[in-house]
Amino acid sequence: MLDIKVTRTTHPAKKPEGPITSFGKIFTDHMFLMNYTEGIGWHDARIEPFHDLTISPACVVLHYGQEMFEGLKAYYGVDGKVRLFRPIMNARRTNSSNRRLCIPELPEEMFVEAVKAIVAVDRDWIPTDPDTSLYIRPFIFGTDAFLGVAPSQTYLFCIILSPSGAYYASGLKPVGIWIEDDYVRAVRGGMGFAKTGGNYACSLAAQVKAHDDGYSQVLWLDGVERKYIEEVGAMNIFFKIGGRIVTPMLNGSILPGITRDSVIQVCRSWGMEVEERKISVFELIDAQKSGRLEEVFGSGTAAVISPVGKLRYVDEVMTIGDGSIGPVSQKLYDTITGIQWGKIADPFGWTVEVV
Ligand SMILES: *Cc1c(COP(=O)(O)O)cnc(C)c1O
Repeated sequence: MLDIKVTRTTHPAKKPEGPITSFGKIFTDHMFLMNYTEGIGWHDARIEPFHDLTISPACVVLHYGQEMFEGLKAYYGVDGKVRLFRPIMNARRTNSSNRRLCIPELPEEMFVEAVKAIVAVDRDWIPTDPDTSLYIRPFIFGTDAFLGVAPSQTYLFCIILSPSGAYYASGLKPVGIWIEDDYVRAVRGGMGFAKTGGNYACSLAAQVKAHDDGYSQVLWLDGVERKYIEEVGAMNIFFKIGGRIVTPMLNGSILPGITRDSVIQVCRSWGMEVEERKISVFELIDAQKSGRLEEVFGSGTAAVISPVGKLRYVDEVMTIGDGSIGPVSQKLYDTITGIQWGKIADPFGWTVEVV
């Protein structure tokens, strides 16, 4: 058991009135904090009023980016229960990111306990309107004030919470995706599989380019041949080609999404074939030209399922379907969100209640 010292705020913030429509702009009254010191380990787990952090201008994270983050949600169910979705997977992925970034690991149960504790303290902040949730952002960064390049000897683990609005306020509308043929996000042996800020810093230039051209997200190709499909900005990608579900295999440069894993398990439970393999952009173009590219969708915690209606690669613009969401995409969305909001049974044992 993690011994967490709780200090409650004496000035609770006014909660927003009416349904929340933003993402990541409002924060709850409290935050979780825990320090790591070499020779001592993780210590001083505590929940405090939400406050700014003070760090040295020489702090290692500001110069060399030694940090990782996670993202999950708490859902206020139709039965009034609060659920987390597969938090143990976030704990495992934290340690996998930490190993890559030379950040000390932490026991999986400690991670889950910390998430549950902070959500329980700010339970009243969980929005209850349909399709809303409480976004949970755990993160760890090196805190040494030292300009030499070396792993930090001290770290801070924080969890902050942000009530977030319905992702699809006006229904699941397919988005346009830009297949990036110049910049790359990650290479084999790099840190593409880790959830770390550096991967996002590296992605901004292409995102700006795509936005300027009217596309909402970037689809990355592999870092060597710029030919094989990897993933979208903050989502993994799936294709339905000739009746089969196909997704890029995890190769070290793709983020192993928890939603991705859930989509694969749900599809297999329906008896659908799911192939995890290499897919080249040219195979996609061929499939689209021969009418076998039936559905394209992204998967991630924020949107769960994000249907793709248009894909651009250099001079090719591929339109997928008729501009509405495909039947498998819709059924996956209904099933996974149904489990998250307690609307349907959870045969996989994925949800964890917060008391
Ligand atoms: C977080 C993330 C995903 C999606 O992972 P989920 O666990 O499904 O939310 C996909 N790609 C990148 C780059 C990510 O950071």
